[in-house]
Amino acid sequence: MLQDVALNCFNITQSYLSIDAGNVLATSGHVIRQTQEAIQTSRQYLLQDIFTRWDPFNGDISFSYNGGKDCQVLLIIYLGCLWEFFLSSIEGSQYGPQFHKFPLQQLPTVYIDQEDTFDTAQEFLQASVDRYYLSLYESAKDKKIDMPSAFESFLTVHPETEAIVIGVRHADPFGESLRPIQKTDPSWPQFYRLQPLLHWNLSQIWSFLLYSGEEMCGLYEMGFTSLGSVNNTVRNPYLRVPEPIASFTKADTKHSDFQWEIENNFRGDSKTHFNKINETDLTKIRNHDASEFHPGWYLTKDEWERAGRLAKK
Ligand code: FAD
Ligand code: MG
Ligand code: MG
Repeated sequence: MLQDVALNCFNITQSYLSIDAGNVLATSGHVIRQTQEAIQTSRQYLLQDIFTRWDPFNGDISFSYNGGKDCQVLLIIYLGCLWEFFLSSIEGSQYGPQFHKFPLQQLPTVYIDQEDTFDTAQEFLQASVDRYYLSLYESAKDKKIDMPSAFESFLTVHPETEAIVIGVRHADPFGESLRPIQKTDPSWPQFYRLQPLLHWNLSQIWSFLLYSGEEMCGLYEMGFTSLGSVNNTVRNPYLRVPEPIASFTKADTKHSDFQWEIENNFRGDSKTHFNKINETDLTKIRNHDASEFHPGWYLTKDEWERAGRLAKK
């Protein structure tokens, strides 16, 4: 039930926040401390600024989700905050939470099916629907329809939507000047954009997601760092072994910064979890480049995150 997964996400977040960063190895401790602050800021946006203005339980808010690492991080934090919001709504009741009905059975989410994505990414999206109890609106697949038009169609089906959560970060293209709560641009259908993840950097994303022990999209394990269309996305060249590209310095990717997070993950099995790479994808990826690649989280330089994106043909 959504209730159980919201509680679990609350527990993941609380567990991360209670890591004694001072007792962790020098580099990881530093990232963990920063990530703890990033989580607290996102929680404040959600609990104090957003849920007080739009009711997350009555359809005011939808969540834009494509299975990528950023919106998955935000989803975990968002669901944890839903649990907290539920608890605060029954505060003062003489009965414990187990005697109150959680007001939502599925989380309203929206996916714009525009690009030719990898089958693995598509399969991960479907797995997320089951794991996180998403009620997923999928736009009609049509590459000629741009994103604003796709959201216009979405709003005709879900006119109750007043605001949409987006896992965009300042480091994303055109992300620099975005704000946590803002209206859409004039050329877009009008609704509020809720962007509580803007201030997160790549290291913080990996640290939290690897610690969660949640299953991630399998493409990341193969050396992808950013998921785009199957026609213009390859594994990140900075992660290629053993002959890295020219401007690469070994220190940047020779090891994972997140060994501590993996060994001490919330799931308790000291492992990473991914959905299975689809066979067609595997053939395509290996045919393009037979080299081995480090997993995506060996790369923590925000500027290099999209180095695996080719110019659009
Ligand atoms: P990514 O890291 O791939 O995506 C960032 C986030 O966007 C994801 O975490 C996810 O929440 C969402 N997202 C990306 N792709 C999809 C998808 N196919 N289906 C569902 N969600 C997805 N740009 C403007 O210039 N003006 C606007 O007013 C504006 N409004 C937007 C409103 C919404 C609801 C969304 C989802 C996007 C909007 N955008 C707008 C575009 C946005 O700023 C990003 O450029 C866009 O999300 C693509 O991100 P990315 O691929 O660069 O990064
Ligand atoms: Mg992203
Ligand atoms: Mg994208």
